[in-house]
Amino acid sequence: MKLYGQNIKPKNLDRIKNKIKFILYLLLVTSTAQTQQTLIRAGRLIDTNQKTVKNNIDILVEGNRIIEVGKNLKLTSGKTVDLRDKTVLPGLIDSHTHICLTPDYSSNPPVLYKTNTYRTMEAFKASKQILMSGFTSIRDVDNEGADMADIAVRDAINKGMFVGPRIFVSGWAISITGGHMNLTGLRPYVDRKVEQLAIMADNSDDMVAAIRDQRKAGVDFIKIYATGTLRHINRETLEPLSQLTKAEVEIMVNEARRWGMDVAAHAYGGTGAYHAVDGGVHSLEHGLFLDNKILSLMVKKGTFWCPTMTVYLPDEGASEADTRFHNRIVAEHKKSFQLAMKKGVKIAFGTDIGSMPHGEGWREMERMVDYGMSPMDVIHSATVVGAKLIRKNDELGQIKQGYFADIIAVEGNPDQNIKAFRSINFVMVNGTIAKND
Ligand SMILES: [Zn+2]
Repeated sequence: MKLYGQNIKPKNLDRIKNKIKFILYLLLVTSTAQTQQTLIRAGRLIDTNQKTVKNNIDILVEGNRIIEVGKNLKLTSGKTVDLRDKTVLPGLIDSHTHICLTPDYSSNPPVLYKTNTYRTMEAFKASKQILMSGFTSIRDVDNEGADMADIAVRDAINKGMFVGPRIFVSGWAISITGGHMNLTGLRPYVDRKVEQLAIMADNSDDMVAAIRDQRKAGVDFIKIYATGTLRHINRETLEPLSQLTKAEVEIMVNEARRWGMDVAAHAYGGTGAYHAVDGGVHSLEHGLFLDNKILSLMVKKGTFWCPTMTVYLPDEGASEADTRFHNRIVAEHKKSFQLAMKKGVKIAFGTDIGSMPHGEGWREMERMVDYGMSPMDVIHSATVVGAKLIRKNDELGQIKQGYFADIIAVEGNPDQNIKAFRSINFVMVNGTIAKND
Protein backbone atom coordinates (compact mmCIF):
# COMPACT_ATOMS: atom_id res chain seq x y z
CA MET A 1 0.00 0.00 0.00
CA LYS A 2 1.09 3.54 -0.70
CA LEU A 3 0.87 6.44 1.67
CA TYR A 4 1.99 9.89 0.51
CA GLY A 5 3.78 8.20 -2.35
CA GLN A 6 5.74 5.79 -0.12
CA ASN A 7 5.46 2.05 0.00
CA ILE A 8 4.16 1.04 3.43
CA LYS A 9 4.24 -2.54 4.67
CA PRO A 10 1.11 -3.73 6.60
CA LYS A 11 3.19 -4.14 9.81
CA ASN A 12 4.37 -0.51 9.55
CA LEU A 13 0.81 0.57 8.78
CA ASP A 14 -0.34 -0.87 12.10
CA ARG A 15 2.40 1.04 13.88
CA ILE A 16 1.33 4.26 12.14
CA LYS A 17 -2.32 3.56 13.02
CA ASN A 18 -1.37 3.02 16.65
CA LYS A 19 0.65 6.23 16.68
CA ILE A 20 -2.27 8.19 15.24
CA LYS A 21 -4.58 6.64 17.85
CA PHE A 22 -2.16 7.68 20.59
CA ILE A 23 -1.91 11.26 19.27
CA LEU A 24 -5.73 11.48 19.09
CA TYR A 25 -5.95 10.15 22.65
CA LEU A 26 -3.43 12.79 23.83
CA LEU A 27 -5.40 15.53 22.05
CA LEU A 28 -8.60 14.28 23.68
CA VAL A 29 -7.04 14.16 27.15
CA THR A 30 -5.53 17.63 26.81
CA SER A 31 -8.68 19.15 25.39
CA THR A 32 -10.80 17.60 28.19
CA ALA A 33 -8.34 18.93 30.79
CA GLN A 34 -8.39 22.37 29.17
CA THR A 35 -12.16 22.65 29.10
CA GLN A 36 -12.53 21.95 32.83
CA GLN A 37 -13.36 25.45 33.97
CA THR A 38 -14.56 27.23 37.09
CA LEU A 39 -16.53 30.44 36.78
CA ILE A 40 -16.40 32.63 39.87
CA ARG A 41 -19.06 35.32 40.15
CA ALA A 42 -17.63 38.03 42.41
CA GLY A 43 -19.90 40.61 44.04
CA ARG A 44 -16.96 42.90 44.78
CA LEU A 45 -13.52 42.36 43.29
CA ILE A 46 -10.41 44.10 44.63
CA ASP A 47 -7.91 45.26 42.04
CA THR A 48 -4.84 44.98 44.28
CA ASN A 49 -2.62 46.78 41.81
CA GLN A 50 -4.85 49.81 41.22
CA LYS A 51 -6.18 49.67 44.81
CA THR A 52 -9.76 49.92 43.55
CA VAL A 53 -12.94 47.85 43.87
CA LYS A 54 -15.13 46.73 40.95
CA ASN A 55 -18.64 45.33 41.29
CA ASN A 56 -20.13 42.22 39.69
CA ILE A 57 -17.10 40.83 37.92
CA ASP A 58 -16.65 37.25 36.71
CA ILE A 59 -13.40 35.31 36.84
CA LEU A 60 -12.94 32.35 34.52
CA VAL A 61 -10.43 29.75 35.67
CA GLU A 62 -9.10 26.95 33.52
CA GLY A 63 -6.62 24.47 35.01
CA ASN A 64 -4.47 26.45 37.41
CA ARG A 65 -4.71 29.81 35.60
CA ILE A 66 -7.13 32.71 35.31
CA ILE A 67 -8.06 32.86 31.62
CA GLU A 68 -10.48 35.78 31.66
CA VAL A 69 -11.77 38.53 33.95
CA GLY A 70 -14.82 40.57 32.95
CA LYS A 71 -18.59 41.02 32.90
CA ASN A 72 -21.08 38.21 32.17
CA LEU A 73 -18.55 35.55 31.19
CA LYS A 74 -19.76 32.18 29.89
CA LEU A 75 -18.69 28.76 31.05
CA THR A 76 -18.12 26.07 28.41
CA SER A 77 -17.89 23.23 30.94
CA GLY A 78 -17.28 22.88 34.67
CA LYS A 79 -18.91 24.66 37.57
CA THR A 80 -19.93 28.08 38.78
CA VAL A 81 -19.06 29.43 42.25
CA ASP A 82 -21.43 32.10 43.43
CA LEU A 83 -19.58 34.74 45.47
CA ARG A 84 -21.94 37.60 44.60
CA ASP A 85 -22.39 38.43 48.29
CA LYS A 86 -18.61 38.42 49.00
CA THR A 87 -15.50 40.44 48.35
CA VAL A 88 -13.07 38.51 46.16
CA LEU A 89 -9.34 39.15 45.99
CA PRO A 90 -6.13 37.32 45.11
CA GLY A 91 -4.75 34.85 47.65
CA LEU A 92 -2.65 36.60 50.29
CA ILE A 93 1.13 36.31 50.49
CA ASP A 94 2.86 36.00 53.87
CA SER A 95 6.47 36.95 53.26
CA HIS A 96 7.83 35.75 56.61
CA THR A 97 6.80 32.34 57.97
CA HIS A 98 8.29 29.37 59.81
CA ILE A 99 6.21 26.27 59.02
CA CYS A 100 8.31 23.93 61.21
CA LEU A 101 8.09 26.13 64.32
CA THR A 102 5.39 26.35 66.98
CA PRO A 103 5.02 29.25 69.44
CA ASP A 104 6.87 27.43 72.26
CA TYR A 105 10.03 27.11 70.16
CA SER A 106 12.22 29.54 72.08
CA SER A 107 11.58 27.99 75.50
CA ASN A 108 11.65 24.43 74.09
CA PRO A 109 14.14 24.42 71.19
CA PRO A 110 12.74 21.76 68.81
CA VAL A 111 16.24 20.44 67.97
CA LEU A 112 16.37 19.23 71.60
CA TYR A 113 12.87 17.85 71.98
CA LYS A 114 11.38 16.85 68.63
CA THR A 115 12.32 14.43 65.87
CA ASN A 116 12.50 15.87 62.39
CA THR A 117 9.82 13.41 61.31
CA TYR A 118 7.46 14.88 63.89
CA ARG A 119 8.42 18.38 62.79
CA THR A 120 7.54 17.49 59.19
CA MET A 121 4.06 16.48 60.40
CA GLU A 122 3.78 19.81 62.22
CA ALA A 123 4.84 21.64 59.05
CA PHE A 124 2.19 19.75 57.06
CA LYS A 125 -0.47 20.84 59.57
CA ALA A 126 0.84 24.42 59.64
CA SER A 127 0.77 24.75 55.87
CA LYS A 128 -2.89 23.64 55.86
CA GLN A 129 -3.80 26.17 58.59
CA ILE A 130 -1.97 28.93 56.72
CA LEU A 131 -3.83 28.12 53.48
CA MET A 132 -7.24 28.03 55.18
CA SER A 133 -6.58 31.49 56.63
CA GLY A 134 -6.31 32.90 53.12
CA PHE A 135 -2.56 32.80 52.48
CA THR A 136 -1.96 30.98 49.22
CA SER A 137 1.77 31.81 49.03
CA ILE A 138 4.38 31.95 51.77
CA ARG A 139 8.04 32.84 51.95
CA ASP A 140 9.45 30.56 54.62
CA VAL A 141 12.56 31.96 56.25
CA ASP A 142 14.38 29.09 58.01
CA ASN A 143 13.17 26.56 60.54
CA GLU A 144 15.90 26.05 63.13
CA GLY A 145 17.09 22.74 61.76
CA ALA A 146 14.22 20.36 60.85
CA ASP A 147 16.48 18.73 58.26
CA MET A 148 14.89 20.42 55.25
CA ALA A 149 11.33 19.46 56.24
CA ASP A 150 10.33 22.81 54.71
CA ILE A 151 11.71 21.73 51.33
CA ALA A 152 9.97 18.36 51.65
CA VAL A 153 6.60 20.00 52.34
CA ARG A 154 7.09 22.44 49.44
CA ASP A 155 7.92 19.58 47.06
CA ALA A 156 5.03 17.40 48.25
CA ILE A 157 2.60 20.27 47.58
CA ASN A 158 4.16 20.98 44.18
CA LYS A 159 3.86 17.31 43.24
CA GLY A 160 0.15 17.35 44.16
CA MET A 161 0.42 15.00 47.16
CA PHE A 162 -1.75 17.43 49.11
CA VAL A 163 -3.25 20.88 48.68
CA GLY A 164 -1.24 23.63 50.34
CA PRO A 165 0.12 27.10 49.78
CA ARG A 166 2.91 27.84 47.32
CA ILE A 167 6.06 27.74 49.45
CA PHE A 168 9.32 29.54 48.77
CA VAL A 169 11.98 28.36 51.23
CA SER A 170 15.36 29.49 52.50
CA GLY A 171 16.28 26.19 54.22
CA TRP A 172 18.88 26.72 56.94
CA ALA A 173 19.88 30.27 57.74
CA ILE A 174 23.50 31.39 58.09
CA SER A 175 24.73 32.82 61.39
CA ILE A 176 27.93 33.12 63.47
CA THR A 177 29.23 31.26 66.52
CA GLY A 178 27.73 32.80 69.63
CA GLY A 179 25.20 34.74 67.56
CA HIS A 180 21.53 34.27 66.77
CA MET A 181 20.48 30.61 66.40
CA ASN A 182 23.54 29.31 68.25
CA LEU A 183 22.31 27.59 71.42
CA THR A 184 24.21 28.98 74.37
CA GLY A 185 24.56 28.00 78.03
CA LEU A 186 24.97 24.28 77.31
CA ARG A 187 27.92 22.42 78.88
CA PRO A 188 30.65 22.03 76.24
CA TYR A 189 30.17 18.22 75.98
CA VAL A 190 26.46 18.64 75.22
CA ASP A 191 27.07 21.64 72.96
CA ARG A 192 29.33 19.52 70.73
CA LYS A 193 26.60 16.85 70.36
CA VAL A 194 23.63 19.12 69.68
CA GLU A 195 22.53 20.02 66.18
CA GLN A 196 22.64 23.79 65.74
CA LEU A 197 19.66 25.91 64.73
CA ALA A 198 21.42 27.45 61.73
CA ILE A 199 24.69 27.03 59.83
CA MET A 200 27.49 28.65 61.84
CA ALA A 201 29.89 30.37 59.42
CA ASP A 202 32.66 32.49 60.92
CA ASN A 203 34.60 33.41 57.79
CA SER A 204 33.72 34.24 54.19
CA ASP A 205 34.84 30.84 52.83
CA ASP A 206 32.41 29.06 55.14
CA MET A 207 29.66 31.54 54.22
CA VAL A 208 30.11 30.81 50.51
CA ALA A 209 30.23 27.05 51.20
CA ALA A 210 27.01 27.32 53.24
CA ILE A 211 25.20 29.00 50.32
CA ARG A 212 26.35 26.31 47.88
CA ASP A 213 25.23 23.64 50.33
CA GLN A 214 21.78 25.21 50.63
CA ARG A 215 21.47 25.59 46.89
CA LYS A 216 22.34 21.93 46.42
CA ALA A 217 19.55 21.03 48.87
CA GLY A 218 17.06 22.99 46.74
CA VAL A 219 16.35 26.28 48.51
CA ASP A 220 14.72 29.20 46.67
CA PHE A 221 16.62 31.99 48.45
CA ILE A 222 19.14 32.55 51.25
CA LYS A 223 18.51 33.81 54.79
CA ILE A 224 21.31 35.39 56.81
CA TYR A 225 21.49 36.79 60.33
CA ALA A 226 22.92 40.30 60.08
CA THR A 227 22.20 41.07 63.75
CA GLY A 228 21.71 38.96 66.86
CA THR A 229 18.41 38.32 68.54
CA LEU A 230 16.63 39.83 71.58
CA ARG A 231 19.19 38.45 74.05
CA HIS A 232 21.94 40.27 72.13
CA ILE A 233 20.31 43.71 72.40
CA ASN A 234 22.01 46.18 74.74
CA ARG A 235 19.20 46.95 77.18
CA GLU A 236 20.57 50.47 77.80
CA THR A 237 21.08 51.67 74.23
CA LEU A 238 18.89 49.12 72.38
CA GLU A 239 21.81 48.53 69.96
CA PRO A 240 21.55 44.98 68.53
CA LEU A 241 24.64 42.82 68.03
CA SER A 242 26.06 43.42 64.55
CA GLN A 243 27.00 39.98 63.17
CA LEU A 244 28.39 40.74 59.73
CA THR A 245 30.61 43.27 58.01
CA LYS A 246 29.47 44.92 54.79
CA ALA A 247 32.16 42.91 52.94
CA GLU A 248 30.80 39.61 54.31
CA VAL A 249 27.27 40.55 53.28
CA GLU A 250 28.51 41.45 49.79
CA ILE A 251 30.31 38.12 49.44
CA MET A 252 27.12 36.22 50.32
CA VAL A 253 24.88 38.38 48.13
CA ASN A 254 27.23 37.87 45.17
CA GLU A 255 27.43 34.11 45.71
CA ALA A 256 23.63 33.85 46.02
CA ARG A 257 23.15 35.94 42.87
CA ARG A 258 25.44 33.60 40.95
CA TRP A 259 22.83 30.89 41.57
CA GLY A 260 19.95 33.26 40.80
CA MET A 261 18.94 33.64 44.44
CA ASP A 262 18.11 36.62 46.64
CA VAL A 263 19.28 37.17 50.22
CA ALA A 264 16.93 37.99 53.10
CA ALA A 265 18.59 39.43 56.19
CA HIS A 266 17.28 39.18 59.73
CA ALA A 267 18.29 42.58 61.09
CA TYR A 268 16.93 44.62 63.99
CA GLY A 269 18.74 47.87 63.25
CA GLY A 270 21.99 49.70 63.95
CA THR A 271 25.31 48.85 62.29
CA GLY A 272 24.31 45.28 61.39
CA ALA A 273 21.17 46.39 59.53
CA TYR A 274 23.10 49.14 57.73
CA HIS A 275 25.77 46.64 56.61
CA ALA A 276 23.02 44.32 55.31
CA VAL A 277 21.31 47.03 53.22
CA ASP A 278 24.60 48.54 52.05
CA GLY A 279 25.87 45.05 51.18
CA GLY A 280 22.91 44.56 48.83
CA VAL A 281 20.42 42.21 50.53
CA HIS A 282 17.01 41.95 48.86
CA SER A 283 15.03 42.33 52.09
CA LEU A 284 15.33 43.22 55.78
CA GLU A 285 13.35 41.09 58.21
CA HIS A 286 11.92 42.59 61.44
CA GLY A 287 13.82 45.93 61.52
CA LEU A 288 12.77 47.00 65.00
CA PHE A 289 15.03 50.02 65.09
CA LEU A 290 15.28 51.44 61.57
CA ASP A 291 16.36 55.06 61.67
CA ASN A 292 16.18 57.72 59.00
CA LYS A 293 19.66 56.84 57.66
CA ILE A 294 18.90 53.14 57.09
CA LEU A 295 15.41 53.79 55.71
CA SER A 296 16.81 56.36 53.24
CA LEU A 297 19.37 53.82 52.05
CA MET A 298 16.58 51.21 51.68
CA VAL A 299 14.57 53.60 49.50
CA LYS A 300 17.66 54.35 47.40
CA LYS A 301 18.55 50.68 46.95
CA GLY A 302 14.98 49.39 46.65
CA THR A 303 15.35 47.06 49.64
CA PHE A 304 12.12 45.40 50.79
CA TRP A 305 11.13 45.39 54.46
CA CYS A 306 9.11 42.71 56.28
CA PRO A 307 8.26 44.30 59.66
CA THR A 308 6.61 41.33 61.56
CA MET A 309 5.46 43.58 64.43
CA THR A 310 2.89 41.51 66.33
CA VAL A 311 5.33 38.88 67.62
CA TYR A 312 7.31 41.48 69.60
CA LEU A 313 4.41 42.32 71.91
CA PRO A 314 5.23 41.37 75.53
CA ASP A 315 4.25 37.80 76.47
CA GLU A 316 1.45 37.36 78.96
CA GLY A 317 2.93 36.63 82.38
CA ALA A 318 6.38 38.00 81.46
CA SER A 319 8.46 39.63 84.21
CA GLU A 320 8.11 43.36 84.77
CA ALA A 321 11.60 43.98 83.34
CA ASP A 322 10.86 41.92 80.21
CA THR A 323 7.51 43.62 79.70
CA ARG A 324 9.20 47.03 79.98
CA PHE A 325 11.90 45.95 77.49
CA HIS A 326 9.31 44.65 75.02
CA ASN A 327 7.21 47.79 75.34
CA ARG A 328 10.26 49.88 74.41
CA ILE A 329 10.85 47.63 71.39
CA VAL A 330 7.20 47.86 70.33
CA ALA A 331 7.32 51.67 70.54
CA GLU A 332 10.51 51.80 68.41
CA HIS A 333 9.09 49.32 65.91
CA LYS A 334 5.97 51.45 65.47
CA LYS A 335 8.15 54.52 64.93
CA SER A 336 10.22 52.66 62.28
CA PHE A 337 7.01 51.53 60.54
CA GLN A 338 5.49 54.98 60.39
CA LEU A 339 8.70 56.57 59.15
CA ALA A 340 9.14 53.82 56.53
CA MET A 341 5.59 54.42 55.25
CA LYS A 342 6.27 58.15 54.99
CA LYS A 343 9.53 57.59 53.11
CA GLY A 344 7.99 55.05 50.69
CA VAL A 345 9.94 51.93 51.69
CA LYS A 346 8.60 48.78 50.00
CA ILE A 347 6.80 47.11 52.91
CA ALA A 348 5.97 43.45 52.29
CA PHE A 349 3.45 41.89 54.64
CA GLY A 350 4.99 39.24 56.91
CA THR A 351 3.87 37.65 60.17
CA ASP A 352 6.75 35.56 61.59
CA ILE A 353 4.06 32.93 62.02
CA GLY A 354 5.33 29.91 63.93
CA SER A 355 6.35 32.40 66.60
CA MET A 356 2.59 33.01 66.83
CA PRO A 357 -0.09 30.37 66.14
CA HIS A 358 -0.42 29.27 62.52
CA GLY A 359 -3.55 30.55 60.83
CA GLU A 360 -3.62 33.86 62.69
CA GLY A 361 -1.96 36.08 60.10
CA TRP A 362 -4.88 38.50 60.39
CA ARG A 363 -3.33 39.75 63.68
CA GLU A 364 -0.47 41.43 61.80
CA MET A 365 -2.91 42.93 59.25
CA GLU A 366 -4.82 44.58 62.09
CA ARG A 367 -1.59 45.82 63.69
CA MET A 368 -0.53 47.53 60.47
CA VAL A 369 -3.89 49.32 60.31
CA ASP A 370 -3.54 50.20 64.01
CA TYR A 371 -0.21 51.84 63.21
CA GLY A 372 -1.68 53.97 60.43
CA MET A 373 -1.63 51.96 57.19
CA SER A 374 -4.95 51.94 55.32
CA PRO A 375 -6.67 48.54 54.92
CA MET A 376 -6.27 48.82 51.13
CA ASP A 377 -2.51 49.41 51.53
CA VAL A 378 -2.26 46.39 53.84
CA ILE A 379 -3.98 44.29 51.13
CA HIS A 380 -1.57 45.73 48.53
CA SER A 381 1.36 44.86 50.82
CA ALA A 382 0.08 41.27 51.28
CA THR A 383 -0.45 40.73 47.53
CA VAL A 384 1.35 42.97 45.02
CA VAL A 385 4.39 43.88 47.17
CA GLY A 386 4.76 40.28 48.40
CA ALA A 387 4.68 39.06 44.80
CA LYS A 388 7.36 41.58 43.84
CA LEU A 389 9.53 40.47 46.76
CA ILE A 390 9.50 36.87 45.51
CA ARG A 391 9.85 38.12 41.91
CA LYS A 392 6.52 36.56 40.88
CA ASN A 393 4.55 39.74 40.22
CA ASP A 394 3.84 38.61 36.66
CA GLU A 395 1.79 35.66 37.93
CA LEU A 396 0.86 36.21 41.60
CA GLY A 397 -0.73 38.92 43.74
CA GLN A 398 -3.46 40.00 41.29
CA ILE A 399 -6.61 38.64 39.70
CA LYS A 400 -5.66 39.07 36.10
CA GLN A 401 -5.69 37.09 32.88
CA GLY A 402 -2.77 34.64 32.78
CA TYR A 403 -2.11 34.79 36.51
CA PHE A 404 -2.22 31.74 38.78
CA ALA A 405 -5.74 30.96 40.02
CA ASP A 406 -5.05 31.80 43.68
CA ILE A 407 -8.28 33.43 44.81
CA ILE A 408 -9.96 34.07 48.17
CA ALA A 409 -13.22 35.63 49.36
CA VAL A 410 -14.40 37.22 52.60
CA GLU A 411 -17.60 38.76 53.94
CA GLY A 412 -17.96 42.55 54.01
CA ASN A 413 -15.52 45.17 52.80
CA PRO A 414 -11.96 44.21 53.86
CA ASP A 415 -10.64 47.28 52.02
CA GLN A 416 -12.42 49.35 54.67
CA ASN A 417 -12.58 46.97 57.61
CA ILE A 418 -9.44 44.85 58.02
CA LYS A 419 -11.21 42.64 60.59
CA ALA A 420 -12.94 40.93 57.64
CA PHE A 421 -9.81 38.76 57.33
CA ARG A 422 -10.52 37.06 60.65
CA SER A 423 -12.81 34.74 58.74
CA ILE A 424 -12.09 33.50 55.23
CA ASN A 425 -15.02 32.02 53.30
CA PHE A 426 -13.40 30.81 50.11
CA VAL A 427 -9.89 29.69 49.14
CA MET A 428 -8.73 28.55 45.72
CA VAL A 429 -5.08 27.70 45.24
CA ASN A 430 -3.55 26.76 41.90
CA GLY A 431 -7.07 26.34 40.49
CA THR A 432 -8.19 23.92 43.23
CA ILE A 433 -10.93 24.91 45.67
CA ALA A 434 -9.53 24.26 49.16
CA LYS A 435 -12.34 25.92 51.10
CA ASN A 436 -15.88 27.03 50.23
CA ASP A 437 -18.07 27.86 53.22
ZN1 LIG B 1 11.21 34.89 61.73
